[in-house]
Amino acid sequence: MKEELEAISKQGLDEIASAKTMDELQEVKRNLFGKSSKLSEITKSMGSLTPEMRKEVGMKVSEIRNLFTAKLEAKEQEILESNSVLNAPADLTIPGKKVSGGSIHPIIQMCYDLNDAFASLGFEVFSEDEISSEKYAFDNLNFAPDHPARQTMDTYWLEGTENKNGAERLCLRPHLTGGSVRYLLQHGAPARFVYPGQVFRNEAVDARHERDFFQYEALIVDKDISFSSGIVMIQTILEKVFGRKINVRMREGFFPFVEPGYEIDMECLVCGGKGCKTCNHNGWIEVMPGGVIHPNVLKSANLSPDEWTGFYINIGLDRLVMMRYGVDDIRLLRSSDLRFLRQFN
Ligand SMILES: [Zn+2]
Repeated sequence: MKEELEAISKQGLDEIASAKTMDELQEVKRNLFGKSSKLSEITKSMGSLTPEMRKEVGMKVSEIRNLFTAKLEAKEQEILESNSVLNAPADLTIPGKKVSGGSIHPIIQMCYDLNDAFASLGFEVFSEDEISSEKYAFDNLNFAPDHPARQTMDTYWLEGTENKNGAERLCLRPHLTGGSVRYLLQHGAPARFVYPGQVFRNEAVDARHERDFFQYEALIVDKDISFSSGIVMIQTILEKVFGRKINVRMREGFFPFVEPGYEIDMECLVCGGKGCKTCNHNGWIEVMPGGVIHPNVLKSANLSPDEWTGFYINIGLDRLVMMRYGVDDIRLLRSSDLRFLRQFN
């Protein structure tokens, strides 16, 4: 039996060595390891051997199997290397692999679209840090010292600065407006700029409110900005974004940094003005407060209210995205739910 095993080993190694293609090698492999291979037959007949012989033959068989396996692997590598893909004719009919890519989040897309719309009206894009201070978030903007937004009910104050005030008391910016004074201090007037970004508020979360959300604010400062040019600007921007005329209405609104101030509503595009969950069943949705810049804010920016005036608008990006796509729950925008997000691919 020893001679027989030697012969099987020699023949097998010869067959492996003479294989030239992967197909031939697979055929050799089947012959060497298959159920009807010589090695298998020897294994099956081992029952009739003495225990000593069985042990010896068993070891020899497994030694040969290991040898075959190693040689087969080496041969396979050799064949692969000698058959470079580049030598093979390219098959141009094989279907390509589809690369699955991500897509721009609808809020960011809205932000880009607004940047384009404002750039076409000569606005610059400005950005600043998300950590601001009481000075920039409130003092500069004509917020009274006891204004409730300064308390913890709305603003996230940063630990370690709670007993300080002004520029020393730090917070996550609760709105973007602080950036307007910073820009004006750096660049002076006249100015027209937008400053998009994320803001943070300690709000109760529901279908229309989130704790952190994107805002998009714009400010024009010049010598003769009229109220009506502010309105024209809003209508122009909405038309550019939605590609058609959008019904808007203005109500009186109070914000410390404007005088007079307005709430600017657009007709709810989810329900077409009939009333739905998104618009709180009144057919209109509040998309942007705005108004004429308050003289005290101009003073904070070292500009004379006798010489300069200006118009703010603060666009709720989330709301505009909801209007554009008919989204009825603001929480979907931050849900990271791919079933939702893939609809914008
Ligand atoms: Zn509605």
